[in-house]
Amino acid sequence: MSLYKLSRSVASSKKVDVSFEFFPPISDKAEENLWKAIRRIENLSPKFVSVTYGAGGSTRERTLRTVKRMVDETNLNVAAHLTCVGASKSEVDGIVNEFKDAGINRFVALRGDPADGIGERYIPHPSGYNNGAELVAGLKGISDFDVTVAAYPEKHPESADFATDMDMLKRKVDAGATRAITQFFFDNDLYEAYLERVRKAGIYIPIIPGIQPIHNFIKVANFASRCGTSVPQWLAERFDGIDSDPETRQMLAAAVAAEQVADLATRGVTDFHIYTMNKAELPVAICRLLGIHEKIPETASKD
Ligand code: FAD
Repeated sequence: MSLYKLSRSVASSKKVDVSFEFFPPISDKAEENLWKAIRRIENLSPKFVSVTYGAGGSTRERTLRTVKRMVDETNLNVAAHLTCVGASKSEVDGIVNEFKDAGINRFVALRGDPADGIGERYIPHPSGYNNGAELVAGLKGISDFDVTVAAYPEKHPESADFATDMDMLKRKVDAGATRAITQFFFDNDLYEAYLERVRKAGIYIPIIPGIQPIHNFIKVANFASRCGTSVPQWLAERFDGIDSDPETRQMLAAAVAAEQVADLATRGVTDFHIYTMNKAELPVAICRLLGIHEKIPETASKD
């Protein structure tokens, strides 16, 4: 379906839910910008928002501070990402309890990338959780948390084949995960084929597409090649030759993301997880295409 048709059909279509991902800010200025974005996103009444956990737990304090402030100062359902790389079970459990004390009862549970970087061999901590499934079980052993996990439409780069990949997803669901968010992808056919595989494997949790707006094509393409996401030739051609033209790039990024979301909506997708890069404008625009508008709270005083 075209965007034109989508915008006319949303009013009568099924309810659409959105969630948004942020990363913890590294400076006061970045925190200020993040909070401007959060305030706008809050007005979209998302199903939940999540805050990432830096590679190897490097942002533990900042993730905790960010989610705590979100819990204290907004009405959002807040999920903290958590990884188990390089930490013992008791260390991870201690961190989980810190988050719990801060009011967090939702987690996006991840194994994490190898300590030496994506593409290197993953070496679990000798007394740690070995993978995502064990981490989910560990979380559920602490409390009945709401747990989301990662899924890979093009399979995880470390998985020998799709069957191994599917087996891990099943283990994560059996351990208590109730939804999965996908690695970003640009070819919706791959997502649809993956969803079919998932259902055939007897896995029935929502598999929410992770939408990555291409703010910077070179950066996104580099990251994609490391995490196993293919970049179609037609997409590369669209961004070809505009590296030094950020305004056009932003407009194109919005158009490409909108087109992807519109196409997924026509395939029956009703939940979307948007990687915000801590900016609200593009997510707000995508939501408008899906029929979700900001509900601006009334201010106490008017001119
Ligand atoms: P698992 O579910 O444990 O495994 C993923 C796949 O790898 C499985 O299919 C399994 O077959 C295979 N596998 C696992 N272990 C091995 C092994 N030892 N040998 C061979 N194959 C193996 N990373 C962060 O650091 N912080 C974040 O906040 C973060 N957020 C993310 C959010 C989403 C939605 C996604 C999709 C990814 C995120 N990541 C994050 C990246 C994630 O940590 C990596 O993709 C990591 O490599 C795998 O984590 P997982 O939980 O999917 O692993």
